[in-house]
Amino acid sequence: MRLIEFLLSPLIGFIAEVLTNLWMNLEKLPLPFLVSRTGYANPRVRRISGWTGYWAHTFRLTIPNIRKWMKTRGDLFPLVIQVQTINRCNAACDFCPYPYTVHLQDKRVMDDDLYSKIVDECVREPGLLDFVPMSKNEPLLDVKMEERIREFRSKAQPHQIVELVTNGSALTPVRAKRLMDAGLDMITVSISAANEETYNKVMVGLSWKQVMGNLEALSRENLAKMNVYLRFIKEQGNRKELSVFRKRWKLYNLFNFNVNNRAGALRGYEMKVIQHGDMIERLKHMAGSRIYPACPYVFSSMHILENGDVTMCLNDWADREVIGNVRTQTIREIYNSPRMKEVRELMVQGRYEEIEACSGCSFYHEWLKPLEVRERLELAEPITG
Ligand code: SF4
Repeated sequence: MRLIEFLLSPLIGFIAEVLTNLWMNLEKLPLPFLVSRTGYANPRVRRISGWTGYWAHTFRLTIPNIRKWMKTRGDLFPLVIQVQTINRCNAACDFCPYPYTVHLQDKRVMDDDLYSKIVDECVREPGLLDFVPMSKNEPLLDVKMEERIREFRSKAQPHQIVELVTNGSALTPVRAKRLMDAGLDMITVSISAANEETYNKVMVGLSWKQVMGNLEALSRENLAKMNVYLRFIKEQGNRKELSVFRKRWKLYNLFNFNVNNRAGALRGYEMKVIQHGDMIERLKHMAGSRIYPACPYVFSSMHILENGDVTMCLNDWADREVIGNVRTQTIREIYNSPRMKEVRELMVQGRYEEIEACSGCSFYHEWLKPLEVRERLELAEPITG
């Protein structure tokens, strides 16, 4: 087994790297059929289509900065920035730590001056590709969301995308039209079920009928300018419904991914995660650690809280490490602070266990950790949420 792995590992890594390079450049290839069924008249998002387009988009937003840093150890600017304009959600989804993390904070809304300061720096930076005015919240609870999107769009460089992820409960026809008019390029609606019973178990606190009604109404709108994705987060409780979900919503772009433990913040993760056989797990490690020689989150993305705090990783719902504040510092300063550089260096040396958030993170344990480290540290036991 070990010998086979020893021989297979470079091959798997090589194939993974070739495919990733191809994938990243998909939109540059002469593939006229690769046009999204929504957002097809918007040059920023028209080539982001289906499952393949989603991953191509993800790779474009994650890989270039890691490669640049591995070569130069130079300064970086995030390729994607998420801004939490309000720290509230109206749901308590099974795969989300919101009820026992963000929900425990006082309700707060980002003030306009701070938001404008963030936007003004982002639009000066051509390296910023994707601006997402939502994080760890339901963005449509912010009554100023359309205004905020309009502000970004009016100042942004032509290639910069503005994107939202929502649970869809407030995505009424009126609201959808206002978001499109404001210049929203792409919206992802989180569904994760194919029937009402499962929906009520997974997307706790929301109404299936209301969200389905909103999606039906949205499908009758002119979606030429706005790309729409529906997202399915796969876990034990809904895994059998993915194929029905795919058939039901062919008119939108779809993608799915497996539940992750949000850097250890998600409770009961081991009961939710879908376990694969040992061979699949080992293949994941071989490919994952080759595609990402370090975790993309701290090389490519930034998460700004409503009070201006910037945490080390947007995947860490417990906000364990605040590395700066955009009220008093620039995004560029924070992203290239001594601590961020130290974290990146620890990661390329494989020393994730020394970073508090990473040490319990399923992304690290299931994808990034090289097999020999996994075995040496004997950390193959389940990760607790
Ligand atoms: S490994 Fe660390 S940086 Fe990467 S997602 Fe997990 S907590 Fe974030």
